Amino acid sequence: MKVLVVGGAGYIGSHMVKMLLDAGYEVVTLDNLVAGYRDAVLGGEFIYGDIADYVMLNHLFSLHHFDAVMHFASHIQVGESVRDPAKYYRNNVTNTQNLLDAMVAQGIRHFIFSSSAAIFGEPHYTPVDEAHPKIPINPYGHSKLMVEQILADYDRAYGLTSVCLRYFNAAGAHPDCLLGERHNPETHLIPLILQVASGRREAVSVFGRDYPTADGTCIRDYIHIMDLCQAHLHALEQLMHGGTSAAYNLGNGDGFSVQQVINEARKVTGRKIKIIDAPRREGDPAELVADSTLAQKKLGWLPCYAELETIIRHAWQWECKQLGSHQSQD
Ligand code: UDP
Repeated sequence: MKVLVVGGAGYIGSHMVKMLLDAGYEVVTLDNLVAGYRDAVLGGEFIYGDIADYVMLNHLFSLHHFDAVMHFASHIQVGESVRDPAKYYRNNVTNTQNLLDAMVAQGIRHFIFSSSAAIFGEPHYTPVDEAHPKIPINPYGHSKLMVEQILADYDRAYGLTSVCLRYFNAAGAHPDCLLGERHNPETHLIPLILQVASGRREAVSVFGRDYPTADGTCIRDYIHIMDLCQAHLHALEQLMHGGTSAAYNLGNGDGFSVQQVINEARKVTGRKIKIIDAPRREGDPAELVADSTLAQKKLGWLPCYAELETIIRHAWQWECKQLGSHQSQD
């Protein structure tokens, strides 16, 4: 079985490439390296390219006979999407449609899509299941929901089957420390906290202490990157064995506040972690927790690394390795 992983040099994509290779798949990665790293692609063939390039896609699909495409290449910063929606609609929607059109033209019939909890907007209830109203509150969330809509229509019209996986908070790193999170700029809570613990950063801001939660800080559902990728693998296998299109929410179903994550990181690292209280970040709901019952039932998937301690420990191992390589470059 041969799979194209678009965005396979990024955080989630690179873990997926590794997992597919370990499961015996033939893998080709396509990445424009805008946000990814060539050295994060641990095997298979690598192609430098952009999904905006329809001619390249057409050529690629005529050269290889892919059984499926997994798409991880999108812009992910909510705040940036508000300031520069064109960038988000262009890449996350228009370019994704380009990719889908090239697939349809070449008869590739299975697609796995990185969607997001951002499609739900402000939660009306918690935990958030698949039936929750989908009312995005920023261009990033809209861009993801638009692709979900395109996929539903492409299935009906062209027989392209897809699984949309709506991530809550992806976190952690490969347990063997082969891969991890490397965003530039880093905006995510756990890597930022650990960069403070390792001394790469002075302090971490806590965005708001006046939320209607037990300690006043935002609650999120952190899901281990390996568990997230495992769900993709199940979804891929189902599609390739005749499964129908679906969409699932992926999280652990447990919420942790920003303060709880910081406390846990202090325990795991044994380091003081300096925090600075900061105003709320725009667009942050107080609580975002997934109901992943459907994914568990339909995909036969269960998180293996559900403990926050494990997620942080693996991310910490990666941070220590990153620190080592940064210091040796100095
Ligand atoms: N957060 C924070 N300080 C930071 C980064 C994030 O307090 O420097 C909070 C953020 O407001 C949210 C949670 O941590 O409540 C997780 O944010 P992240 O950016 O990691 O993921 P998101 O929930 O935006 O997908």
